[in-house]
Amino acid sequence: MTGAAAEPQAVRPRDDIALMAGYHSPQLDVAVRLNTNESPLPPPAAFTEAVSAAASTVAWNRYPDRQAVELRSKIAARHGVAPEQVFAANGSNEVLQCLLLAYGGPGRAAAVFEPTYALHAHLARVTGTVVAEGERGDDFTLDPQAAAALIADARPAVTFLCSPNNPSGTVEPPSAVASLLDAAAATGGVLCVDEAYAEFSPHSALDLIDDLMPLAVTRTYSKTWAMAGARLGYLIGPAWLVAELEKVALPYHLDALKQAVGVAALAFVDDMEARVSAIVAERNRLTDRLGGLPVDVWSSGANFVLIRPRHRDGAEVWRQLVDRSILVRDCSSWPRLEGCLRVTVGTRSENDSFLAALEEILA
Ligand SMILES: *Cc1c(COP(=O)(O)O)cnc(C)c1O
Repeated sequence: MTGAAAEPQAVRPRDDIALMAGYHSPQLDVAVRLNTNESPLPPPAAFTEAVSAAASTVAWNRYPDRQAVELRSKIAARHGVAPEQVFAANGSNEVLQCLLLAYGGPGRAAAVFEPTYALHAHLARVTGTVVAEGERGDDFTLDPQAAAALIADARPAVTFLCSPNNPSGTVEPPSAVASLLDAAAATGGVLCVDEAYAEFSPHSALDLIDDLMPLAVTRTYSKTWAMAGARLGYLIGPAWLVAELEKVALPYHLDALKQAVGVAALAFVDDMEARVSAIVAERNRLTDRLGGLPVDVWSSGANFVLIRPRHRDGAEVWRQLVDRSILVRDCSSWPRLEGCLRVTVGTRSENDSFLAALEEILA
């Protein structure tokens, strides 16, 4: 016996971690789920069959291909880049974490433009990176001059630009991306454009990828590919940056089946594009219909729409939607988003259920 304390004692984590709230995305059991920007439709049956076939050929006793050569080559071919310019991981969230592990850390900063995807700042803090916060305008667009000034001042190792921006749906024009890239390059930092929703929007920063430029673009299988359950995402960037990310990723982080699943999905581009077109058409219909209701609506280039009920408490409207078995994301208590709700575009009938419920609540 060592005379150990009789009472169990929680061990103290790092002070900054102890103070953190963690990342939360509440789930409820409802009929219509429009809260996490998933695809309302699954991938085609032929994909599921391809996955079953791939599962039966996996050498389960062996470690997977650590370099994920086939997956990276297929992704590279899709985007017209070299396999060495592709880094894949367990969701684009793990990609972002690896980027911060390699380029962030104590004594370094990451810039974000709020309101934006909470995970950028959260992962920065988890990795001990200082967060330099810029602000978007009232319409949630970026002021490129103010953004460049923040970069020149804070000299962040990583600047995050989410476009289309979650949760506002705002798409930055190519000129804004180019000016942020110039600002990042001038201060020796990396610009990371988070393009989780790029396929729903009119343009992408991928055209600017070049081994001579400190630009990385992140993509995910979670939204357009209807594969949030697979946890797969990737980054396109200079080969020298990808090589650093490989050093911080855990060995064999991408399991063999996931690599095969990622390859299999890419054979169904037409299905993906048809799904995306249908969702974009539904988004535009939803936006039009919302325009006739007493809510503020922001123009979106993604698969969701941000709204703010006028003269009504956003959290109360959210609760009344839940009462009608419809779940949207309650952003009403988030900084700069007072009273706002984020609504994922669902199927036509899900969107109609949402619209009917909202009309009733606001009547
Ligand atoms: C949904 C989302 C992601 C996707 O994360 P995964 O880990 O790939 O599921 C990344 N960035 C933004 C801005 C998102 O909204």
